[in-house]
Amino acid sequence: MIRSFSTLLKSEIGGSGVFLKRGKATSHPKTTSGAKITPQQIFDRESKYGAHNYHPIPVALCRGEGVYVWDVEGRRYFDFLSAYSAVNQGHCHPKIVAALKEQADILTLTSRAFYSDVLGEYEEYLTRLFGYDKVLPMNTGVEGGETACKLARKWGYMKKGIPKNEAKIVFVEGNFWGRTMSAISASTDPVSYEGFGPYMPGFKIIPYNDLEVLEQALQDPTVCAFMVEPIQGEAGVVVPHDGYLKGVRDICTRRNVLFIADEVQTGLARTGKRLAVDHENVRPDIVILGKALSGGVLPVSAVLADDDVMLCIRPGEHGSTYGGNPLACKVAMAALEVMEEEGLAKNAEKMGQVLRTELAKLPSSVVKLVRGKGLLNAVVVAPEFDAWEMCVRLKDNGLLAKPTHGDIIRLAPPLTINQTELDQAIAIMSDTMKSYVPKK
Ligand code: PLP
Repeated sequence: MIRSFSTLLKSEIGGSGVFLKRGKATSHPKTTSGAKITPQQIFDRESKYGAHNYHPIPVALCRGEGVYVWDVEGRRYFDFLSAYSAVNQGHCHPKIVAALKEQADILTLTSRAFYSDVLGEYEEYLTRLFGYDKVLPMNTGVEGGETACKLARKWGYMKKGIPKNEAKIVFVEGNFWGRTMSAISASTDPVSYEGFGPYMPGFKIIPYNDLEVLEQALQDPTVCAFMVEPIQGEAGVVVPHDGYLKGVRDICTRRNVLFIADEVQTGLARTGKRLAVDHENVRPDIVILGKALSGGVLPVSAVLADDDVMLCIRPGEHGSTYGGNPLACKVAMAALEVMEEEGLAKNAEKMGQVLRTELAKLPSSVVKLVRGKGLLNAVVVAPEFDAWEMCVRLKDNGLLAKPTHGDIIRLAPPLTINQTELDQAIAIMSDTMKSYVPKK
């Protein structure tokens, strides 16, 4: 039963229109001089000293717990972005934070110049959980993508017999896998690539969710890989038709092309399965994981593949100073254990159904479309409304979400969200969207 936001205001929030925190009191963070700092001062300081490569929603956060974050004035918000799906396990999950603290006192970084007593344990755990021969550990999601592309090219030369420097990788329109030169070279979003050329050669882009075009593209014998998100996250939670991933698997197998699944955003229970490809029971040749692999604690990414692919890269040909560090390995194991022990995939599936059912009841003059899987969802708002302004209004009402492409709002809470919390969040969304319907 979904109560209205105004009921919530009175019964749980206090009726002041200001969100009061529950749990521990939150004091204003101090500046180095000991003075209190206001949200505006925080915005201004970042603007003055930081590069202007982001445009945040105007809220200054200082604490997180589970599905909630608090701003510096003590207002509590539902987090419906979850750090772009990095915080699937909820903010500051005690088990993950405990693993971090324990290992931080023991050994944090060895580099890969030496062995550590933790890396192999992590590698064994991860590969067994996902059923691949080997893992190559990295830090950020985009490094995972770079790693997958390098592996694919090397495999293309060593195993497929592609002539030197002629290997091609096929991507799809609307893809997003980060901000490096390679990632933007694969992008079809001018905001990502414009002004940063020249671009990486050997990349071909075809439409998403089109198996016929894929079939044609992979006829080129110099194609070594097809890299795709099972659901496009940054593009606005674009879900392909049922059978697309099965079709991709089939075409890649027939054409001797590696199927790379970018599961950085969709993986780790977000869509209601451990991996989004599990919805169609397909097994990619390479899987890229990131974000929630650390539960939002550290940058941890990983590339999974079998020996035939992974052993194409030899010592010295790829790596990263921090990749596979003991601290990250312990944190990642804890994050994966939480995902398994707490049944996050199952909860994402169940709560996602509820969320989409309730969102479908929002006024159709405001919300044109609801889509998603598990707890990776989005609403498309009518063209006369500005998704950014709506997110600011949602924020004022106690829920944080981020717009994408001007008319899409992604709704992706931590996967630990329970029915009561979801009902409250839906009430906020419902009241906010209804506030755009003209009064008669
Ligand atoms: N791949 C996908 C599907 C993503 O959504 C993202 C980030 O949003 C990345 C890769 C890049 O991850 P990171 O920002 O950790 O480099």
